[in-house]
Amino acid sequence: MARVYNFSAGPAVLPEDVLKEAAAELMDYQGCGMSVMEMSHRSPEFQGILQQTEEDLRELLAIPDTYDVLFLQGGDTLQFAEVPLNLSTPRNGTAAYLVTGQWSKKAAAEAKRLIEAPVVASGAKTNFSRLPDCSALTIPDEADYVYLCENETVHGLKFPELPDVGNHVLVADQSSMFLSEPVDVTRYGLIHAGVQKNVGPAGLQIVIVRHDLVPASELDGVPTMLQYRTHVEKRSLYNTPPCWNIYVCGLVFKHLKSIGGLVAMHERNREKAQLLYDAIDASDLFHGAVSVPEHRSLMNVTFVTGNPELDAKFVAEAKAAGLLNLKGHRSVGGLRASIYNAMPLEGVRALVRFMQDFERDNR
Ligand SMILES: *Cc1c(COP(=O)(O)O)cnc(C)c1O
Repeated sequence: MARVYNFSAGPAVLPEDVLKEAAAELMDYQGCGMSVMEMSHRSPEFQGILQQTEEDLRELLAIPDTYDVLFLQGGDTLQFAEVPLNLSTPRNGTAAYLVTGQWSKKAAAEAKRLIEAPVVASGAKTNFSRLPDCSALTIPDEADYVYLCENETVHGLKFPELPDVGNHVLVADQSSMFLSEPVDVTRYGLIHAGVQKNVGPAGLQIVIVRHDLVPASELDGVPTMLQYRTHVEKRSLYNTPPCWNIYVCGLVFKHLKSIGGLVAMHERNREKAQLLYDAIDASDLFHGAVSVPEHRSLMNVTFVTGNPELDAKFVAEAKAAGLLNLKGHRSVGGLRASIYNAMPLEGVRALVRFMQDFERDNR
């Protein structure tokens, strides 16, 4: 069967080279006579995979030695709780939240269950069609960190630059932009990302955390598995990690290195996004859902016709043409094309041609 162009927001498209390599090694990983799925997580082969995967990630993002890299489970949603549990003080702590779309809204709501979590900027008034003004944030002095979602997957918003948070620790959910462009890790106290948006199979989260922020001693009342300290000490092998997912991410990291790293990846991503946004801006039928061009995501392109029936027709006809998963998130409707790292330029070109044909036929 032929491959389609898959615009899913996640789990999402992976590089074909990586899928082929994983398939080729499925029966016999490098002479082991078994796949990575079947091998002990304590085996030297898997230890080698884990170590290399971390090294390659450190190289791609230029992660300093003062940061720990953790491979965790529980869905990236679990980080909404783990961050306040580890970086603040349950019941007594405070952290400031920027609410710019569905994911940061969820993170703030979860934090509120555990700590004081004032919202210091919110895009709710404009229905998350743009980022709120973050030029003069009022952050409580006692805030242990400031939290944001750097790329809002559902609404298609991306911070063009990080807001000034003074001396506060910045925590970012980078799930849907992870490794799509270079970032300066030293500006963050913690970055977390579910890998299923841009770099791997669902079931693994990567946390990059400045070592001095990891609690030095055991946290009272916090389950062992939810303490970063546990996974730092055991180097992500406290219990069985998602071995296969780590392995596939490792293949993706090698692939990213082979094409020139994140600078080259960013260049490709910019080209794809430009092509699609230009097509939307030139169209009379399609309208971008984000009102400020500088706030547009390079990864999740949200747009509408303004007519839900026509949107549905577009999604159905696109599917028949081999362009899949263009429906907007169920909470916002409309259309969304997620054009992650592994979406080829040719896929975006095919989408743009299809949009033009659709517009001609539905005037
Ligand atoms: C998908 C997503 C999540 C949640 O990931 P799960 O692994 O489904 O828990 C969190 N944040 C962002 C930005 C996402 O895109």
